[in-house]
Amino acid sequence: MLHEKLSSIYDNVLRRNPGEVEFHQAVREVLDSIGPVLGKHPEYAESKIIERICEPERQIIFRVPWLDDSGEVQINRGFRVEFNSALGPYKGGLRFHPSVYLGIVKFLGFEQIFKNSLTGLPIGGGKGGSDFDPKGRSDREVMRFCQSFMTELYRHIGEYTDVPAGDIGVGGREIGYLFGQYKRITNRYESGVITGKGLAYGGAQVRTEATGYGCAFFVEEMLKARGTSFDGKRVVVSGSGNVAVYTIEKIEQLGGVVVACSDSSGYVVDEKGIDLALLKHIKQVERGRLETYAARRGDHVSFVPGRSVWEVPCEVAMPSATQNEITGRDAAFLVEHGCVAVGEGANMPTMPEGIKLFLEAGVAFGPGKAANAGGVATSALEMQQNASRDSWTFEFSEHRLQEIMRDIHGRCLTTADEYGMPGDYVAGANIDGFRRVADAMLALGLI
Ligand code: GLU
Repeated sequence: MLHEKLSSIYDNVLRRNPGEVEFHQAVREVLDSIGPVLGKHPEYAESKIIERICEPERQIIFRVPWLDDSGEVQINRGFRVEFNSALGPYKGGLRFHPSVYLGIVKFLGFEQIFKNSLTGLPIGGGKGGSDFDPKGRSDREVMRFCQSFMTELYRHIGEYTDVPAGDIGVGGREIGYLFGQYKRITNRYESGVITGKGLAYGGAQVRTEATGYGCAFFVEEMLKARGTSFDGKRVVVSGSGNVAVYTIEKIEQLGGVVVACSDSSGYVVDEKGIDLALLKHIKQVERGRLETYAARRGDHVSFVPGRSVWEVPCEVAMPSATQNEITGRDAAFLVEHGCVAVGEGANMPTMPEGIKLFLEAGVAFGPGKAANAGGVATSALEMQQNASRDSWTFEFSEHRLQEIMRDIHGRCLTTADEYGMPGDYVAGANIDGFRRVADAMLALGLI
């Protein structure tokens, strides 16, 4: 139930941002958690911190014209929402997907503020992207699109201003083209202007794996807090992109058995445990579909086209595909079939009814802001290495990531306890993330 003050703030957000339903949902979830904080800190309300946090500092929308392989002109829309820079330069990925519009970029940018705050590192929140669909496009088309996108974006970003990275549809290939164009236009080898770079040109060890590994570490901590572990547990991971693949890799290393994963065409069930080398080859090298996995792996694997993977029973669920993929019904099904933990690798993959059901059922529920913060945290480590012209080993970087995830987990639990909601990682993450940004905003004057 929203506090009266918070509900009028929410009404204002609805009025000022019509039709941006994902943004409304993300704001609502945070406002639902922070009522108790206002009781303890009247100074936040007095200086309208929440109203200010809900309004992006700057929103940039631009035209991205490019030539496809047949010589035809294509036009897409580019976005960068610079949401909050109280803690550091705006930081957050770029998403290239046909569903991208301002409401999606704003929900992601808003989440990013609290996620980045939770990492304890000096990074503000932002997000960007385009409605460009890389699917079925040649390397050259992707390159021309990225070059055109950066030809506008470059004037808005910088090591001390705004540092983009990848998200859905933006991986190592796209980051390379984007950075190449930035370097060419500015004549500056400013490595810290973008993260997720390749190891050959200023990238950091473990950045590729970080979101997935971090999410597995976070869930391992949640399980440990309940006296158990991944060992022998039946796990379902949705998606088969960067987050999903490295979530599967780490869970397998930690002794869990990942029996299913998915893509936009459907899902596979492999009771022997997903063969990661085969999955990586099909998804990363061939850029193919999961049907091929089923065909090559053998008769024990089934491919189920066009359905959601959340009809496969599991003890641990790791939604790592996209927003709103777990409905209330899916959550009820998972709880009924013995699910004990959920780790959100994607941003906002569980719908509000689903979150409510998981929390009521006592499932250890790790919200994306906390559970998937390893990606952006490792981006901040990449920025650190770029700034000091250093590069750390894989082992050291993974160790730092694990420490950061343990620290986030610990702070979510402590904060939830402090506010009388033991075990509620949603409240813990929202409150802890919010407090740090709010304190910085107070200290910086009316910004
Ligand atoms: N897109 C990722 C996220 O959702 C990573 C952002 C980054 O590394 O800046 O947090």
